[in-house]
Amino acid sequence: MKKFKWTLGLVFCLALVLSLVPCTAFAAESGTCGDNLIWELDEEGTLTISGTGDMYDYSNRPEESPWQSWRYKIKQINIEEGVTSISSWAFAACNKMSSVTIGKSVKNIGHDAFADCSGLTDIIIPASVESCGKGIFSGCFGLTDVTFWGDAPGLGDYMFEGVTATVHYPCSDETWTDDVRKPYGGNLTWEASHAKGVFPGKEPTCTETGLTDGEICLTCHELVEKGEVIPAKGHKGVYRDNEAEATCCTEGVKRGGAECKVCGEELIEDTILPIDPNNHKNIVTDKSVKATSTKTGLTAGSHCADCGKVIKKQTLTLAKPVLTSGTKNIARKKIVVKWKKNSTCTGYQVKYVTGSTTKTVKVTSKSTLSKTLKKLKKGKTYKVYVRCYKTIDGKTYYSAYSTAKSVKVKK
Ligand SMILES: [Zn+2]
Ligand SMILES: [Zn+2]
Ligand SMILES: [Zn+2]
Repeated sequence: MKKFKWTLGLVFCLALVLSLVPCTAFAAESGTCGDNLIWELDEEGTLTISGTGDMYDYSNRPEESPWQSWRYKIKQINIEEGVTSISSWAFAACNKMSSVTIGKSVKNIGHDAFADCSGLTDIIIPASVESCGKGIFSGCFGLTDVTFWGDAPGLGDYMFEGVTATVHYPCSDETWTDDVRKPYGGNLTWEASHAKGVFPGKEPTCTETGLTDGEICLTCHELVEKGEVIPAKGHKGVYRDNEAEATCCTEGVKRGGAECKVCGEELIEDTILPIDPNNHKNIVTDKSVKATSTKTGLTAGSHCADCGKVIKKQTLTLAKPVLTSGTKNIARKKIVVKWKKNSTCTGYQVKYVTGSTTKTVKVTSKSTLSKTLKKLKKGKTYKVYVRCYKTIDGKTYYSAYSTAKSVKVKK
């Protein structure tokens, strides 16, 4: 029983709520509002004025504007291109209206035309408008943004009475003088509107600050918004891996310094090792040259290919002479020693050995190719050798001894 009562109550409530929902739809209305202008208010609340020429003048009897009876239904007003004036009081007290589009042909807006339209938040006044009457937006308490697209029109007194809004005007238009930019009964912030473009910023470097992109006006070139400063990034130090020993020709690096890996700037200098004259890294061998009987030779040596310093000096060599078969015991207690010529030497040295006795004898001409050894002991065998010598700048070079020849003193 109790449950049934609740259900009944709910149905009753729903019926009550439904009956309170206002009926929004209404029949479309239309008529004329100028010699060549018609108006139409559709079911959605959009009032459209179209045609050409001026609107009738409703300034003496504001209640005369033909849509006045439905002004609380009007949400939006479109004044189409072709319309050249808006009558005084034309749209006053349309306080459900939140949007107005004014065609670019309108030249004059009569006084109080939009007065007390408190739903209106923003409006654009096209460049065609030459005069705005008194009190046009008086009492439009919701209005926050008004934009003028052209030269300053004549602006009526108390045009913005009671309005706190930002009013935009073209930045480079000189008709918007300080005298024009007055409060007109309201609390207005006048703001030049710029055609904004990007003012390119720049990347910071190690040592210089950067800037984010800013905004610049493409018309007047005023910097609308400065970019933000980006701090310099600072160097990113990295130690150089360039340690190297000093050599005979190049300085070494004891400890590598540091540089910035981004910009390459030197942060810490290298610790330099001076040239080490004894550290040769490129020692090359100087090949020996074999001596012949007509050409002196050289021992093998070496030098540094970098600095040229001789490491192992090459010395002169002489080819050893060759004893000929003419070496014999030719006469009593005498041996004649004969050898082949060496044209590179200064002279020769003959050595003869028997037992523990060694004697030498010098031949001072290279053209002399024999030597007679005298006062030898009969019956003894002598080992005979010969070598070349060459004297250069007081220094004497010797060849090796020839192969020995044993000669017995028989006579
Ligand atoms: Zn500008
Ligand atoms: Zn750097
Ligand atoms: Zn060297």
